[in-house]
Amino acid sequence: MKLTRKELGELIFEAIVTMTIMYFLLMGFYLIFNQIVQSPPEFLPQINSLWDVILFIDFIVIEYKFIILVSALLFSVFFTWWRLFRRYKQMQLRHILDELHYIASGNFDHRIEADLNGDMNDVVNSINTLVESTVEAMEEERKIEQSKDELITNVSHDIRTPLTSIIGYLGLIEDKQYSTFEDVERYIHIAYVKALQMKVLVDDLFEYTKVRQTSTPLNYTRINLGNFLEQMAAEFELESAKQEMAIEVIMESEPLMIEADVDKIARVFSNLISNALKYGKGGSWIKIVVDKVGSEALISVKNNGPKIPEEALEELFGRFYRVESSRSHQTGGTGLGLAIAQSIVALHGGYIYAESNENETKFVMRLPLEQTPN
Ligand code: ATP
Ligand code: MG
Repeated sequence: MKLTRKELGELIFEAIVTMTIMYFLLMGFYLIFNQIVQSPPEFLPQINSLWDVILFIDFIVIEYKFIILVSALLFSVFFTWWRLFRRYKQMQLRHILDELHYIASGNFDHRIEADLNGDMNDVVNSINTLVESTVEAMEEERKIEQSKDELITNVSHDIRTPLTSIIGYLGLIEDKQYSTFEDVERYIHIAYVKALQMKVLVDDLFEYTKVRQTSTPLNYTRINLGNFLEQMAAEFELESAKQEMAIEVIMESEPLMIEADVDKIARVFSNLISNALKYGKGGSWIKIVVDKVGSEALISVKNNGPKIPEEALEELFGRFYRVESSRSHQTGGTGLGLAIAQSIVALHGGYIYAESNENETKFVMRLPLEQTPN
């Protein structure tokens, strides 16, 4: 630790004062002792034994003058050093406190830099670690706050758009701004469709906030993954046939039993398959490939649609995120599907990621076959 000039001056002053006090103290002792030996006080002769002790010490002092002088000197040096060391420690503490106040006054990027040894070093390291974790917690808090604001902004925006349409079309009816009954029917239909769109958003939001909570209870059942995925694929057969896309489930290891919350996992696959149908325009197939790796199931949902840009891959699982091209296609999604899927997979103790190139886009997921009870 670097001392300031003032502190250095304080140390030198302390050294001089201590040495002077020591000098006078030792001289004082010596003189008193000498005085006693030369003219013993009245009471001493009666206490024979004490007088003997004093004479004995006198004898030692005279005989071992040199040794005693050196010892007194060493004692003084040691005492002075001890006092300086103590003062130095106080200064270190003062430095640390100053730095702490500096950090506490809002300079959270600052860390206490002190080249110390021993306990003091441990204290400084602990303080730095504490500051580090506090700053991290604050940053986390700030991000949560910011993401809540974003959520509110997104939700209000996504609700306002269909709501404006609903109010607009119902307003036309209210103001009798229609000429035929068909007009009324048309306006009502549009308002109805927009209301349904709003309901999907609200339902998705509800689902999203539910699965985001790690404490959400899951209703585990043991299912045959192959059969389950075949059923899921069958539900989309009509839609895929319309788009001339073939859906295929490929089981690389069978039978594969897995413990999962069926409704929630079904939500994941239905989003992945419907995404492949919605955004895989121009593609001709969707493949669901299942394999067993150790104690986990490795499932990929692939399609040969357009490539997802590299920079979008990491964002896909963020709520309300939609690749720009999907927005312009007016595919009508809320952008919550993959965020919900990711949370559901995480609740099952697994993880999901996306890969995409010119030939295929795939969503890969690992799910543990068995669930360990908490
Ligand atoms: P929602 O699922 O809530 O109705 P969404 O489908 O737009 O809405 P996500 O499922 O989260 O939302 O998907 C996010 C975005 O990822 C989509 O808007 C799309 O741009 C992109 N995406 C997802 N799957 C694919 C895919 N198979 N091919 C190309 N892009 C995809
Ligand atoms: Mg989707």
